[in-house]
Amino acid sequence: MKHELPALPYAYNALEPYYDEQTVKLHHDAHHKAYVDGLNNAEAKLLEAREKGDFALVKHWERELAFHGSGHILHTLFWDNMAPQGGGPATGLVAEEITKYFGSFDTFKKQFSAAAVAVEGSGWTLLCYNPIFKKLEILTAEKHQNLTQWGVVPLLALDLWEHAYYLKYQNKRAAFVEAWWNLVNWQDVNRRLADCL
Ligand code: MN
Repeated sequence: MKHELPALPYAYNALEPYYDEQTVKLHHDAHHKAYVDGLNNAEAKLLEAREKGDFALVKHWERELAFHGSGHILHTLFWDNMAPQGGGPATGLVAEEITKYFGSFDTFKKQFSAAAVAVEGSGWTLLCYNPIFKKLEILTAEKHQNLTQWGVVPLLALDLWEHAYYLKYQNKRAAFVEAWWNLVNWQDVNRRLADCL
């Protein structure tokens, strides 16, 4: 079964003015699609290698599998984590867990934003539930194929790659981060957390 680029759960212009139509279209149709295509290609090459019993290039294709697989997973999460009527403080179970582990929503938001702004180069900041520690974590990935914490379930993803915001926000990443808070779909985040508990 080949992986397919999931359709956006809203129109390209639905996240305006916080996230502009041009960036959303390019980010989804070109960048996310490239991960899906790369993942399918890596899986096909690894299947071919298994069939031939020739693993000479396995290191390369395993890296491609991790890079494109993580890219596809995180971008799918990124789109689902936003909604046109999103934003505001966390709600429901996520709100309770955030207060429990971060003290308050404001403290959580400050740490998440600071971690996002501090990511070097291209990367991500994620609110995660770690089923091993049974607690929420804010984790960053400077290369999404690296630095993963095995077993962690990402709940909320913010894309900090420049293509995610540069057309509108240029070098003002903090402004994009601030705007993005108006789009968070806490209902979706809650659904993901509930699945972990
Ligand atoms: Mn991206």
